[in-house]
Amino acid sequence: MVTPFVDGWDFVQTLGEGAYGEVKLAVNRSTQEAVAVKVINLTKSKGAADSVRKEVCIHRMLTNQRVIQFYGQRKEPNVQFLFLEYASGGELFDRIEPDQGMPQRQAHNYFLQLISGVEYLHKKGVTHRDLKPENLLLDEHDNLKISDFGLATVFRHQGKERLLGKCCGTPPYVAPEVLKKKEYHAEPSDLWSCGVILVAMLAGELPWDEPSYDCKEFCNWLDKRVELTPWVKIDTIVLALLKKMLSEVPSRRYTITQIKNDRWYCKTFKRKGFSRLPSSSPPGSFKRVCTGTDLSPSSANREETPGKYSSSQPSICGGLGTSTIDSSSVEDLIYGVSFSQPVHLDDMLLGSQLPCTPGNSQTPFQKLVKRMTRFFTKYSVEESIHSLLEVLEKLGYQAKQTSAGQLTITTQDKRRNPLTFKATLVDMDGNVLVDFRLSKGDGLEFKRKFVKIKGKLASIICKGPVQLQR
Ligand code: ATP
Ligand code: MG
Repeated sequence: MVTPFVDGWDFVQTLGEGAYGEVKLAVNRSTQEAVAVKVINLTKSKGAADSVRKEVCIHRMLTNQRVIQFYGQRKEPNVQFLFLEYASGGELFDRIEPDQGMPQRQAHNYFLQLISGVEYLHKKGVTHRDLKPENLLLDEHDNLKISDFGLATVFRHQGKERLLGKCCGTPPYVAPEVLKKKEYHAEPSDLWSCGVILVAMLAGELPWDEPSYDCKEFCNWLDKRVELTPWVKIDTIVLALLKKMLSEVPSRRYTITQIKNDRWYCKTFKRKGFSRLPSSSPPGSFKRVCTGTDLSPSSANREETPGKYSSSQPSICGGLGTSTIDSSSVEDLIYGVSFSQPVHLDDMLLGSQLPCTPGNSQTPFQKLVKRMTRFFTKYSVEESIHSLLEVLEKLGYQAKQTSAGQLTITTQDKRRNPLTFKATLVDMDGNVLVDFRLSKGDGLEFKRKFVKIKGKLASIICKGPVQLQR
């Protein structure tokens, strides 16, 4: 499972897949510092090189606690590596229970953070254009961070706004005017997506496939049919805000200032633990030393060197912190561990050869990203694969063993769109972790399928916390 990356750094997990490649977690062998590495395969499509250039150009100008920090870039002939702040809390998407959503208090917290991040972007003249729960990541403290600037663009430069014309985004989240092939204003279209994200958080479902008159659910919304799902699941005070945020006419849609004055937005919820995941790390069990947002002038000014590296990451952040793990269960280790921001990132940016020296003293589960789509079984990897294959066949999904401990599963969602996901099985001290990850398709559908599979494997799944033998 652990692949050496550059000297001292290992790729320990695939965090996600995107249009042009994979995002991997790289961990420093001696300090345990963790960095997300977006690996972009330039041969995958003609536009890849241009697209990554634009992504880097925009992402590197952003420095805000609500935005994943861009650390640097390394170029090789057919592949590029983008080094990013690692969000160990995974995707916001993972916190949404299919058809249920999440508690209002929790959605409120994420929504406020989202609006704050979008406000920052818009003040910088940047529009994201693909806001959705898969692109909103969480750090170890459950703080939301906007990620994936692959479709972002500058809409305001030196105080002058330009209208946009490109139809892009993800259909369920995209604003109606973006689909109309006319010019549109950037800010209201991002805020529309925030409205759809709020619906997804509160109802666990998306209100429509796309906001066009061909879509019945969208027409129902325009006809104010709020007795229907998902609206019926949503509190009237939030619904009042959604009516303004999901107003078809962009000029009538709520602006950020109006959103910030809204009754629900201003509501105070009693602060409790937000995460549904066990937050079992004892207070003070780890240190977070460098925020990663404080760019030193020397490194921030460093220019891109074609063929080698470029970086906006400080070379050294003082006082290094590493994780102290003093919990006894695998769950604790996975969910409780934290990382300081990278210190020796330059090693990775400068490293010229891949792969490097083998060997690793880290236990892989110490660094895994939080995901809810996983469980432990009591059986061996082979036996677990066997049971899993049986269940998948019964459910009518196609499954193929793509590597030693990995199955690729393909099926269709309820709208008959292809859905592909992967199950990776790893032996961890006698218990087998079965980790599911979406490859392509609708994430909520993926989670519904996961719940089905998990239900059918109940007899082999470990209940309660899994003990780690040390
Ligand atoms: P898309 O198909 O949405 O355009 P993409 O190629 O732009 O995808 P990203 O959205 O940047 O790729 O990353 C894909 C996935 O990888 C994310 O949804 C997330 O699960 C994971 N990921 C990306 N960046 C990070 C990070 N910094 N920390 C943790 N996980 C990450
Ligand atoms: Mg993405």
